[in-house]
Amino acid sequence: MAASSSTKPLNPLRLDVAALADRSEKAQGSAPLQQLLRLAEPGEPVPDAAASLQWQAHAERRPVRGGAPELWLHLKLDAVVHRTCQRCLQPVAIPLALQRDFLFAATEAQAEAWDAERDDADVLVLTKSLNLLELAEDELLLALPLVPRHDTCPQPLMAPGSGAQAAPEPSTEATKGDNPFAVLAQLKRPH
Ligand SMILES: [Zn+2]
Repeated sequence: MAASSSTKPLNPLRLDVAALADRSEKAQGSAPLQQLLRLAEPGEPVPDAAASLQWQAHAERRPVRGGAPELWLHLKLDAVVHRTCQRCLQPVAIPLALQRDFLFAATEAQAEAWDAERDDADVLVLTKSLNLLELAEDELLLALPLVPRHDTCPQPLMAPGSGAQAAPEPSTEATKGDNPFAVLAQLKRPH
């Protein structure tokens, strides 16, 4: 059955949060991690073409006694970001499953006041065109560990001076041409 003509598809790059609150359903989608350019750091593993951020958003107007209802956006994010392990220097997968609640203020002044007095929410100024992916990318960046490390490194640590054993054994993964880690592994091998 065709969707009602009154419901336009939501554009996550220009999200109207108030319009989303008027709907009962959740908005959801995915975006390739390669498109989140600020996640890319020089020297860090390049995301696989298939790697994506899964997002889910819903908005609501919460009744407030004696005042205007509050507009909230609830955002769920799922992504696996790769970074270089600071112990063994191999790529480490960092699964990020985040849930964030944003409270929208009508004005800059209101946002500043709420920001100071409320610790139950991140406060944003309401816009008709919120870039949800930019917001999601901010949250992913904030959630990444400062010092990424494997819980248990896959390879034994190298003793200083044992340079001859430094080359990682080519794994079966590394022989697949389309795997960015394969390229990385090649780059790290001494010539
Ligand atoms: Zn490691």
